[in-house]
Amino acid sequence: MAAFNVEKITHVHHWNDTLFSFKTTRDTALRFKNGQFVMIGLEVNGKPLMRAYSIASANYEEELEFFSIKVQDGPLTSILQKVQVGDELLVSKKPTGTLVLDDLNPGKNLYLLSSGTGLAPFLSVIRDPETYERFEKVIVVHGTRFISELAYQELILDELPNNEFFQEIGIQEKLVYYPTVTREEFHTRGRVTHAIESGELFEKIGLPRFNPETDRAMLCGSPHFLKDVADLLDQHGLKESPRMGELGDYVIERAFVEK
Ligand SMILES: Cc1cc2nc3c(=O)[nH]c(=O)nc-3n(C[C@H](O)[C@H](O)[C@H](O)COP(=O)(O)OP(=O)(O)OC[C@H]3O[C@@H](n4cnc5c(N)ncnc54)[C@H](O)[C@@H]3O)c2cc1C
Repeated sequence: MAAFNVEKITHVHHWNDTLFSFKTTRDTALRFKNGQFVMIGLEVNGKPLMRAYSIASANYEEELEFFSIKVQDGPLTSILQKVQVGDELLVSKKPTGTLVLDDLNPGKNLYLLSSGTGLAPFLSVIRDPETYERFEKVIVVHGTRFISELAYQELILDELPNNEFFQEIGIQEKLVYYPTVTREEFHTRGRVTHAIESGELFEKIGLPRFNPETDRAMLCGSPHFLKDVADLLDQHGLKESPRMGELGDYVIERAFVEK
């Protein structure tokens, strides 16, 4: 049996010079948990060139969605950024990953802390009704360098809050968005770590500082981001899930971390 499904690109959206999103068809046999990743890629010189990608769509959706960086000279993304509707994409058959609700202890507030394309798995998590059943508040924190990198604002601020089904499960009171930008003037400026350390994040969203009794978190982003934010969570007494399938107060997309 082949290791990959061959899917077709159905939609492409370029956010700016460095970021784009695309949707593909989805094999009916592909099952995944919201927050997991797959290997995706293209056939280059007769061989599959594959990279890990978080699935940005929810597991009940008919299509798959991905949110991607464009790395200049990146082996995959220098080609992938040129895909068009109708092109083929290879998708692995075994999704995996640590960013799953099942590995979190019960709690009140769920912080989804991301930098750059680290937002991708959380786009899946915030489209999962179970997220709102398990938590009173779901706080999407997205740190980028530039305003144009704050992708998916429409989904978070408009589409989901105005969706009738999600309204019924109280999304308007539950879903909170905290974008922050480092290199341009913006109403919330600076690193995510600074917003946590200074208390600015908690002041703006009207919640108390991290508390191991009530707060849970998922982390996805650059290795530096993950290390710095995990250190802060540790300082506040939150405990990381030791490994996949085991409960903790927070989970990290471990594949990114250099320890
Ligand atoms: C578990 C996991 C999930 C991932 N999910 C995503 C995702 O949803 N979207 C996505 O765009 N990438 C994701 N990545 C990164 C992705 O696998 C590739 O590295 C990326 O697509 C670039 O591929 P490339 O072959 O062009 O360059 P590579 O040779 O893979 O990377 C070249 C360099 O570019 C930088 N880089 C790579 N990816 C990123 C990124 N996303 N943001 C900033 N700098 C980067 C790194 O410094 C890297 O050394 C994920 C990686 C892992 C391990």
